[in-house]
Amino acid sequence: MKKLQLHWQILIALILSVLFGMFFPQYVKYVEWMGTLFLRALRMIIVPLIFSSIVSGVTGIGSAQNLGRMSLKTISYYLLTSLFAIVTGLILVNIIKPGIGADLGFSKVVEDLAATRDSFGQTLLKIVPTNIVESMANGDLPAIIFFAIFFGFFATRVIPEYKEPVVTFFNAVFEIMMKITMFVIKFTPLGIFGIVSGIMAENAGNLLNIFGRMGAYMLTVIAALSIHAIITLPLLMRIIGNANPLKHARGMSVPLLTAFSTSSSSATLPLTMEAVEKNSGVSNKTSSFVLPLGATINMDGTALYQCIAVLFIAQAYGVDLSFLQQIIVIITTLLASIGAAGIPMAGLVIITVILSAVGLPLEGVGLILAVDRPLDMIRTSVNVWSDACGAVIIAKSEGETLNV
Ligand code: ASP
Repeated sequence: MKKLQLHWQILIALILSVLFGMFFPQYVKYVEWMGTLFLRALRMIIVPLIFSSIVSGVTGIGSAQNLGRMSLKTISYYLLTSLFAIVTGLILVNIIKPGIGADLGFSKVVEDLAATRDSFGQTLLKIVPTNIVESMANGDLPAIIFFAIFFGFFATRVIPEYKEPVVTFFNAVFEIMMKITMFVIKFTPLGIFGIVSGIMAENAGNLLNIFGRMGAYMLTVIAALSIHAIITLPLLMRIIGNANPLKHARGMSVPLLTAFSTSSSSATLPLTMEAVEKNSGVSNKTSSFVLPLGATINMDGTALYQCIAVLFIAQAYGVDLSFLQQIIVIITTLLASIGAAGIPMAGLVIITVILSAVGLPLEGVGLILAVDRPLDMIRTSVNVWSDACGAVIIAKSEGETLNV
């Protein structure tokens, strides 16, 4: 019998886990370990994979000029799509106005809200590590990426006798990490079964109640995310990249479903790299530069979500934001999404920065807390999808011949 394709296996696992979590929550504790193990394995891969992939990518890019061009294109694409996402969110939240008449009594208390505030300036400074070993131990991706780019760049500036073994070594490490990734990917359906049944067991009882109270807000976020993922990004891919979005989406099904189930674009990164290279045919040189950067700074889904959430809170508290304040929301949202880590709930926590920038009560976060998880699942998939589209667009602009 032909083996079922992986994305079908994952879809079946997703459906079964929802049913299992809803109807047999008492047994979920026996399967949750599979999810924990899967997430641990993905995290185990991330640091060596990112480091070796960037070093091997940057040494492949070669000259400072090429590296500069690639960085400029990548960062411009990321800023542009995040801005499109924010504006889509802004338009929808202003049309639907889900916050008007929202039930403030539903708000939950969130402790230590102020403690989570790191100014954008501080976040920027922290990109330069003081101790790369510490950054690696903490999985601090921006710092690791920064150091890896430097390391790769200067590895090409030493005499061939030193350069060659370094390049060969990191290419080899990268290949090994990709092999490990491919091995771990095989367990995705089981991992997802463990994770999602846990989430369902925790939330199933509340689901209808939450939806009844926050339905309009959730639908606004989901509609805006769908417009961005199904219309804006594919159009960009078609127009700028002259690529086939549908074919690309099909090849990306495993990382997209994993992003959805784990709510973490960082944990999904190894799978994204594998799919973008193997299925869509993007070169390692491009994907190893564009994707790790994207997983840390490009969060279209998060930016869009934050913009809607802040305006929702303003509407719920009866605060009318002026045009200037809405512009401030756009700018701080863009910065906040860049600063958010690719882990579950990061986008929610960072909303406090935007709230304080426009003088809204920080407790507003408590209002949207209950529905964060399902929205996190969807926005994380959009984050990963935007990175994957970026890799294709940039690869095409570099003259690569792809499968999409
Ligand atoms: N969970 C998201 C991600 O990993 C970040 C967020 O909370 O918006 O991409």
